[in-house]
Amino acid sequence: MTRLTTTQITLDPSCMDDYDPNSMPVVKARQFIKQYLDPIQQTETLALRASLGRVLSADILSPANVPNYDNSAMDGYAFNADDIVAEMPTQLKVIGTVYAGKAFDIALKSGECARIMTGGMMPTGANTVVMQERVIAEADNITFSETPKRGMNVRYAGEDLQQGQTVLAAGHLMRAADLGLIASLGIAEVSVYRKLKVAFFSTGDELTGVGEALKTGQVYDSNRYTLYGMLSQMGVEIIDMGAIADEPALLESTLLTAASQADVVITSGGVSVGEADYMKLLLAKHGQVVFWKIAMKPGRPLAYGKIQGDNAKTAHYFGLPGNPVAVMVTFYQFVREAMLVLMGQPNPAPLPMFKVECTEKIKKMTGRTEFQRGILFADTDGAWKVKPTGSQGSAILSSMSLANCFIVLDESVGNLDAGSFVTVQVLDGIA
Ligand code: AMP
Ligand code: MG
Repeated sequence: MTRLTTTQITLDPSCMDDYDPNSMPVVKARQFIKQYLDPIQQTETLALRASLGRVLSADILSPANVPNYDNSAMDGYAFNADDIVAEMPTQLKVIGTVYAGKAFDIALKSGECARIMTGGMMPTGANTVVMQERVIAEADNITFSETPKRGMNVRYAGEDLQQGQTVLAAGHLMRAADLGLIASLGIAEVSVYRKLKVAFFSTGDELTGVGEALKTGQVYDSNRYTLYGMLSQMGVEIIDMGAIADEPALLESTLLTAASQADVVITSGGVSVGEADYMKLLLAKHGQVVFWKIAMKPGRPLAYGKIQGDNAKTAHYFGLPGNPVAVMVTFYQFVREAMLVLMGQPNPAPLPMFKVECTEKIKKMTGRTEFQRGILFADTDGAWKVKPTGSQGSAILSSMSLANCFIVLDESVGNLDAGSFVTVQVLDGIA
């Protein structure tokens, strides 16, 4: 794919109706965006805990074997498997107890064993552990007939991680398990990419801020709140530039300030047919931006490109539609993954998708991908199923609040009967 010129953008035919088979498929738009993403290069060193949600900028290598020494996986008795006589109960003398974290310097001789706690270091001469539940203990002796195989119940040095092994590679997004894993290596600080800076603003003459009285024909600016929420959960640095009226000079100055300060600029509104004209001129003047009509619902209009701030710095630009649901859908379908790449993750994990039964019928036109809002629930038979949230209008933001998933219906899919299997994309915890 080649970058479209601004002339091509201007010539890009507008489509007024709701269904356009020639518009940009979702997958193609994603691929297009991907080729322009240049990840952050600057790094910083952070205390381990502060790295949660950040992306590693260097490999983490294991400085030692984990575990560091052979140890017992059970509370039991450590012994040498050579002391087992076939088909005979094994009888061994207990010469002491090995506690986790305590040294045990006595080497076992033939016919001897040591009581050992989970995590206790295997004494010299021992290679196998028998669980304490499997033995009869009398005075200083144990007897057992069910003999474990040689090496049973022993955790070997380096079994989890070997010294010098790459434990986590650069580009890895740090999660709770990773904090523990790195702590288990005794590493206190890690190197991560700096936070991505994201500036955003709403556009529209009709927008009013929360707390103000609503005049005739006005709506409250909700997009800046959903965007704030979605961006916060991604752990980026947020620059909220407010709601800007549809005035070219004002939009221009806001855009330039945003591009000078941020790595990514996101706007909502002003990219739909009829509104896009001055945005196109503005963006063409300060960068290379393409305007698409995506073959999807909601979220048809979308603009993507790079713009130059008043300090010659460039920023990635996402022009999202104004409709509140479309903002969330386009954010999760295009912006989220692109931002993860910019944050330093070369292959970000997509949101989980799987097929489940839909308990209600679905209305759907072929030729476009639909992201209907769905509720995943455990049915009385115990199986997880999905049902649509109800009205699917792209201005009905309550549908997003009710939903815990998108029901993703591909271009080829048409109306579906109740009981059909559909693909869902899980949003729980993020949307
Ligand atoms: P636009 O894409 O600018 O044509 O806007 C499409 C629809 O979304 C219109 O009904 C707008 O009033 C509405 N809209 C645009 N921006 C916002 C916003 N920030 N908050 C709530 N609704 C909005
Ligand atoms: Mg508008």
